[in-house]
Amino acid sequence: MVGLDNAGKTATAKGIQGEYPEDVAPTVGFSKVDLRQGKFEVTIFDLGGGKKIRGIWKNYYAESYGVIFVVDSSDEQRMEETKETMSEVLRHPRISGKPILVLANKQDKEGALGEADVIECLSLEQLVNEHKCLCQIEPCSAVLGYGKKIDKSIKKGLYWLLHIIARDFDALNERIQKDTMEQRALEEQEKQERAERVRKLREEREQREREEAELDGTSGLADLDPEPVIVNPFQPIASVIIENEKKLEKKRQNMEKDNDGCSLKHKMDHEQIETQSQISNSSQRNSEFGLVENYQEALTQPLENEDETDQPSSESDNGKKKTKKLRIKRSHRVEPVSTDESAPKSPTPPPPPPPVGWGTPKVTRLPKLQLLGETRHNGPGECAWQPRALRGWSRPSAGRVSRRLY
Ligand code: GDP
Repeated sequence: MVGLDNAGKTATAKGIQGEYPEDVAPTVGFSKVDLRQGKFEVTIFDLGGGKKIRGIWKNYYAESYGVIFVVDSSDEQRMEETKETMSEVLRHPRISGKPILVLANKQDKEGALGEADVIECLSLEQLVNEHKCLCQIEPCSAVLGYGKKIDKSIKKGLYWLLHIIARDFDALNERIQKDTMEQRALEEQEKQERAERVRKLREEREQREREEAELDGTSGLADLDPEPVIVNPFQPIASVIIENEKKLEKKRQNMEKDNDGCSLKHKMDHEQIETQSQISNSSQRNSEFGLVENYQEALTQPLENEDETDQPSSESDNGKKKTKKLRIKRSHRVEPVSTDESAPKSPTPPPPPPPVGWGTPKVTRLPKLQLLGETRHNGPGECAWQPRALRGWSRPSAGRVSRRLY
């Protein structure tokens, strides 16, 4: 079933099917109607009639036994377009010679062209003779009734079409089998050609991307880090340096307290310089290479820091060696630091809160700072399990802690 858009194809198909034919939505693509008409099992493909989708009609020609062409008889302005469209259909090699039913629809509308006028406007006789199509025209109205009460002209036209098809069934069927096989083979070939085109395009694109990546020198990185890292694990470098300075200061104070004298101070100064240079190097490397490793290591950082800060600073040289060893081990890491801790020593305003996933554990520990006064009374043994943020404050001299708390 074909015809221009708005001609009344869907309304007609619905009426034949026994559904209320009004208020139908425009057909996008096609809709299929299966019905039983006496001894016939009939399938009607109601094909969308918009100019842009008329191209799909030909895909159905091979397996069609006949054509129903619906015309809006009330739309005189589109008669020329209708004529051209019908001519195109009948001229197609898979349609020529097949029976065609023309439904001159919308006869209920005032001013609708009658049967003779439609035949004339469409040059129907000439067209069907030219393409050897048996033809019947029925003036009708698709909205007059549906099901058993469908317009008698539609019913009559449908009977005529089915009768002709039944009469010429063998010849028609043979042609249709042949045409359908050819059509399927053609479709399969087109499908493979399409797939081949897509495969080639993909290969070309991948090759281009590889070449571009080689030029950029980023191919290795793309392989290593295919997933984007959403969380940014970096801390501002100023905070990291301050944090490390603070730790060193802390150790220096403890060592001085334990009368380890000038030589040790000299050693610590040397260590401080060394650590800062390690941190700046590591920061550079971190921005050059992926973030995943740093993120994972940073997650384990508090544990390692526990080890580090639990080393009694007043211990012998062995203790110092151990401390140094740990520092070297994490030389390529940037530690997450508590912004609160760096605040008192930094002349600059505190850095912005750390990103979620870093900041959260520390924020939950922050209230424990208020307990430091108690921590001092608890004795050194309990420091081993204290969270890092808390221990960071419990280690320095009592004077400093007091300043912080009050
Ligand atoms: P299609 O685009 O060819 O499928 O046309 P539709 O079946 O969607 O019908 C388009 C419009 O015309 C709809 O609003 C229908 O209700 C209306 N229509 C269809 N057939 C008739 C008819 O015989 N008489 C009148 N008055 N309106 C009709």
